[in-house]
Amino acid sequence: MKKRHFLKLSSALMTAPLFTPISGWATGETLKNWAGNLTYSTDKLDQAKSLTEVQELVKKYPRMKVLGTRHCFNEIADTNDRFVTLVGMKDDISIDVSARTVTVNSGIKYGQISPYLHEKGFALHNLASLPHISVAGACATATHGSGETNGNLSTAVSAMEMVTAAGEVVKLSRDKDGEKFKAAVVNLGALGVVTKVTLDIQPTFLMTQYVYENLPLAQLKDHFDEIEAGGYSVSLFTNWQSQDIAEVWLKRKAVDITAKIPEAEWFGARLATRNLHPIPELSSENCTEQMGVPGPWYERMPHFKMGFTPSSGVELQSEYYVPRNNAVDAIMAISKLGSQVGPHLLTSEIRTIAADDLWMSPCYKQDCVTIHFTWKQDWPAVSKLLPIIEKELAPFHAKPHWGKLFTVAPAQLEKLFPKLVEFRQITKEYDPKGKFRNDFLNTNLFAKM
Ligand SMILES: Cc1cc2nc3c(=O)[nH]c(=O)nc-3n(C[C@H](O)[C@H](O)[C@H](O)COP(=O)(O)OP(=O)(O)OC[C@H]3O[C@@H](n4cnc5c(N)ncnc54)[C@H](O)[C@@H]3O)c2cc1C
Repeated sequence: MKKRHFLKLSSALMTAPLFTPISGWATGETLKNWAGNLTYSTDKLDQAKSLTEVQELVKKYPRMKVLGTRHCFNEIADTNDRFVTLVGMKDDISIDVSARTVTVNSGIKYGQISPYLHEKGFALHNLASLPHISVAGACATATHGSGETNGNLSTAVSAMEMVTAAGEVVKLSRDKDGEKFKAAVVNLGALGVVTKVTLDIQPTFLMTQYVYENLPLAQLKDHFDEIEAGGYSVSLFTNWQSQDIAEVWLKRKAVDITAKIPEAEWFGARLATRNLHPIPELSSENCTEQMGVPGPWYERMPHFKMGFTPSSGVELQSEYYVPRNNAVDAIMAISKLGSQVGPHLLTSEIRTIAADDLWMSPCYKQDCVTIHFTWKQDWPAVSKLLPIIEKELAPFHAKPHWGKLFTVAPAQLEKLFPKLVEFRQITKEYDPKGKFRNDFLNTNLFAKM
């Protein structure tokens, strides 16, 4: 069993004295992202423990970025200047039963809130493949799980509190702030320091997870909609090197846990007889329980268990969203690249996400299917493959995941994200002097200004 490496950072933060910059943190190592593919451009890191401390830090430094749990693969979180983190702030979880919401400190991880919510009789609508990520970091990049009726994780946000570049506290809500709220939820870390997030909740539920092996690609082509409708959340894993989808993960609400056991064969795929990992060579010990064993929503919706290494650890990731209508054509286009991409892949995953109205969400006004790539950690090879994939997917209007590796040109991003120009204007309102800007934002959002 491989324990999560980034615990080193979390525990260092928890014991850090108030306001002490954690220079060369912990053992003198440089500050890196979770996968270790990115050494951040500074290791100057302050941990804020309260709203007042956030305000003081924001006022003190001319330029800064917020660091969540460091799970992005690109430079979206990076800075040459200073980091502040809210990870490790007190777990203040406040449930409003009548409003059906929970309010949390933004640096909290989904894996911390979820068991508490379940214990109190509540659930979130969805989770990503892993529970290890912070709520604010996930919402900032439109992080998603799967399920054709499930919006990405940020669609659960009903209100947020944020410290702007001037150090002022702004509260925005879905009910009162209309377009301004829709602009701020998927904020790419560009608007300010999000300090609190309120999320929609619903009565808790149990789920089961079944995995099918070797779904013929031809069946997926002919029955895509039926297959995607096969569960509350459906994930398809392949390395594009055979004519089969290696694994289909079906996550279903266990409304009646005595109800039917699924068929041994489903669209030509065979029901797995043991727990599996999405990367077939790896141990399923790190994965959530399968084989139809019912369990709470938060122990079935993510693929990976809290406290265990999610995915592989040493890896790179890229992901592209295509409009749902283009899904089958896009999947078939990528399948033709199998011999090129396959040798560099650990796995690839296909998921569905419902449309939303959040400005910088790739699913803005559009149901989407995502095609994700977990790569071996070989950037020279991957950097050559991304333009090939992006060219293949361009006719399908594919948008990149904000937190993963991509090479789509800034001018193209402006065409793909219909609200990008307006989002730029909003950033000027909250951050007129570019306190929260970095190279990633300057390149991908502001290059044309
Ligand atoms: C193993 C693995 C599995 C993954 N699985 C999925 C998946 O299933 N679905 C998916 O969509 N993505 C997935 N991702 C990507 C991941 O969810 C996103 O990269 C997410 O943004 C990570 O959150 P974080 O807290 O680590 O953010 P960080 O990388 O720390 O930061 C991301 C951005 O959020 C900003 N930010 C963070 N906190 C705040 C705050 N309080 N206020 C303002 N801005 C803030 C940062 O400045 C930065 O711009 C996965 C990543 C890994 C490593």
